[in-house]
Amino acid sequence: MSSTLVMKFGGTSVGTPEAMAQAVKNVQKSKEEGMDVVVVTSALSGITNLLTESTARAVQGDEEFIERTEVELIEKHLFLVDKLIKSSEEKAEIRKEIERLSQEFGRLCHAISILGEATPRALDAVLSLGERFSVRILAGALVSAGAEALFVETSQLIVTDDSFQEAHPDLEKTREKTQNIIKPLLEEGKIPVLTGYLAATEEEITTTLGRGGSDYSAAIIGAVLPADEVWIWTDVSGVMTADPRIVQQARTISELNYREMAELSYFGAKVLHPKAVRPVVELGIPVRICNTFKPEDKGTFIVKEEDDDLVKARARHVVKAVTAIPSQRLVTVEGRGMLGVPGVAARTFGAVAATGTSVPLITQASSEQSISFSVPSDSVDAVLSSLYEVFETEIARRDIDRVWATGDVAIITAVGNGLQHTPGVAGQIFSALGAANVNIYAIAQGSSKVAISLIVMANDAERAVHTLHHFITAN
Ligand code: ASP
Ligand code: MG
Repeated sequence: MSSTLVMKFGGTSVGTPEAMAQAVKNVQKSKEEGMDVVVVTSALSGITNLLTESTARAVQGDEEFIERTEVELIEKHLFLVDKLIKSSEEKAEIRKEIERLSQEFGRLCHAISILGEATPRALDAVLSLGERFSVRILAGALVSAGAEALFVETSQLIVTDDSFQEAHPDLEKTREKTQNIIKPLLEEGKIPVLTGYLAATEEEITTTLGRGGSDYSAAIIGAVLPADEVWIWTDVSGVMTADPRIVQQARTISELNYREMAELSYFGAKVLHPKAVRPVVELGIPVRICNTFKPEDKGTFIVKEEDDDLVKARARHVVKAVTAIPSQRLVTVEGRGMLGVPGVAARTFGAVAATGTSVPLITQASSEQSISFSVPSDSVDAVLSSLYEVFETEIARRDIDRVWATGDVAIITAVGNGLQHTPGVAGQIFSALGAANVNIYAIAQGSSKVAISLIVMANDAERAVHTLHHFITAN
């Protein structure tokens, strides 16, 4: 039995004729090597945003924008068709489909404009059009290049609940449909090309998996087939050890486990959304992040958590990546009257949540009576007012002495599975930062123990990243 590969192409990998031609080559290469290949595609880059904007304009009754966009959608997609589809019959066929989908766009937006409201269900009907366009072109381009490809809309395969805009898949039902429809195609040597992002309820109403959801689609399909590997083709060669704009020596990380990846994406690195790859990684199916335009680069493999012995054996790779989240403020609530009083933390974070701010980092010192946490700089005023209001009585009574915020700070995070097994790393990190003259204002260790985060002054951030990058050894 040959192995099965799910390959997902992001918007920039199909956004221009050159990119899509390269995507076609990458698919054909694996097919020629004897793999069974299932392709998943995003909409062309920019299209989902354009569709989103159209729905907002439709709500305002801007019919002119809708009409203009209907034409723009046809032009943008036909541009690729003209360049990539060889046979005039095929061309005419796909052109017809593109015109039909654009009309569907016009009708849906017109309905939204009449109602003056876009329900989540209506939004999904419009937003899912991007992938319905692109899947036809990519399948056609593969056929023109000599492959036996055909498109399938995932509304036929992925079954979700009716949480429109962010629907949850039912893996059992999805497995049954996917195996019934996709397996026979693979057995006949065909390449199914699937829409990312969209799905349907049991009643066959279109849903979407949330913005950026094509990665999730690929993982769901990979999990239910099941595939041997899932490859996410994008425009960078995997996950980097640091932002290359800050650290010149930054390079691709060859392997990350799921928890490391989750910490990295949480702390600002541009990685896959952890939710998106969980279905496959949990099953031990590796996910490879690779570069459409540099297919020979190995990229980054996301794998299941290794067993502890293996981690210890590899402890020399203590730190794998360093990230920086700029433009934060450290807010502190402190007071002697807080000691042993239950509910202060709950009320503090209740006050923060009331402003709609999310908190990336929290620390509480046990010796002092204070809680500190960081918030994005532009929400600090709202957060402070909310805290003053909630603790008005305590502040008046001097149970709480001070609620205050620092100037601009950055959260620097070092991520690596080895951090939890290597004694003394934290000490080494602090000494190195001390030697580099970087002051640390707060420290938090991720509960998953694979990350250490530090708050430093904004103008020390780059130096801190450079210093910690020295801990990254070859792996
Ligand atoms: N086209 C969708 C979006 O832009 C899904 C995706 O590209 O992953 O959000
Ligand atoms: Mg995307």
